[in-house]
Amino acid sequence: MSDFSIAIVGGGPAGATLARLLDKRFSVLLIDGKTDSEASFRKVCGGLLSPDAQKAFAEFDLTLPKDIMVDPQIFSVRTIDLNTRTERHYQRFYMNLDRHKFDLWLESLAPPTVTRFFGKCGKISREDGCYKLKCRGNDGTENIFTADIVVGADGAGSAVRKFLYPKKEIRRYTAIQQWFPESHAKPFYSCIFDPKTSDCCSWSISKDSFFIFGGAFAPKNCRKAFEEQKKRLTEYGFKFGTPLKTEACIVLRPKSPFDICTGRDGAFLVGEAAGLISPSSLEGISFAVNSARLLAEVINSGIDDPSKKYAEKILPLKLKILVKIMKCPFMYSPFLRKLVMKSGISSITVRERD
Ligand SMILES: Cc1cc2nc3c(=O)[nH]c(=O)nc-3n(C[C@H](O)[C@H](O)[C@H](O)COP(=O)(O)OP(=O)(O)OC[C@H]3O[C@@H](n4cnc5c(N)ncnc54)[C@H](O)[C@@H]3O)c2cc1C
Repeated sequence: MSDFSIAIVGGGPAGATLARLLDKRFSVLLIDGKTDSEASFRKVCGGLLSPDAQKAFAEFDLTLPKDIMVDPQIFSVRTIDLNTRTERHYQRFYMNLDRHKFDLWLESLAPPTVTRFFGKCGKISREDGCYKLKCRGNDGTENIFTADIVVGADGAGSAVRKFLYPKKEIRRYTAIQQWFPESHAKPFYSCIFDPKTSDCCSWSISKDSFFIFGGAFAPKNCRKAFEEQKKRLTEYGFKFGTPLKTEACIVLRPKSPFDICTGRDGAFLVGEAAGLISPSSLEGISFAVNSARLLAEVINSGIDDPSKKYAEKILPLKLKILVKIMKCPFMYSPFLRKLVMKSGISSITVRERD
């Protein structure tokens, strides 16, 4: 007999949403080390809530508390191609959030019937028809939990994904972000393309009194590429100064819908652990929340073959990833991007006031 019906590894947007939506008849364990302490793990993220994610919350009839929002809310993205020194503004409808507060709020919505374990899951094995999870608590204690179902909601470096698909590779980048005191005359949000240093993109966001600059780079020599890009942006007018904080993590970038893995044998993957993240914009919160909703629907229905049903239900999200993959050449091929930006299609005119 297992300790829990369902163990969720990871309490980010995917894991927290699943914990909130699972039927109360299940005994649920949610494993994540995040707390509100300063020393706690914090997800490296731009903290922008896309319209798709906003729609997912609207469908749950959820409203965001004010203290999750940060200052200012920005209505356009300054898109810069450093190669051609072309710049365009595009209207955007993101909400600017404090990502750590957002994660803690989402987790707080899980019902009290969910057992919380503050720590990290190390080893996963399958023994006697159930999953055995070896976990280390934030306080250093070693614990073993067993569960009938295990869900990997543990993000880009997913231990559950590695356990289920040890040979399956998915394209990955190193995301590096630095925080600076804001020193630009006006806050802004930017998206930067610089093929000299990365074949992915970079971004900057003003958040409260901070200026955050980050980018996704090929893992080899990523820090060198990051610093080189900062230098190129300084020449372009960006102000960095001394960083207050440098953070880094893996970010996945699927090349094909086949990169997305949903799980098998009573083990499931949701959110970025499944490979669900936009390869064009690296937006992942909507995919995390929506995949968790779909898995909750499947598990709550008590269907006989939940792996097959979940794989079917996730198809529209896979299709959405396919559309984003098809969009990539228009954003990432220097030639096509130049054409798109020069054409001005969908761009807006920003009138600077003296
Ligand atoms: C630099 C950067 C900027 C981004 N900006 C945006 C943005 O602005 N908007 C947007 O929509 N998306 C953005 N994304 C993508 C987005 O952050 C992710 O796709 C999204 O957070 C995925 O949610 P998730 O719940 O699947 O995983 P995560 O948010 O990564 O959560 C995984 C959780 O699992 C926990 N965990 C991991 N391993 C273990 C373990 N072994 N045991 C227990 N717990 C574990 C972690 O503590 C974490 O809380 C960005 C990504 C990066 C890297």
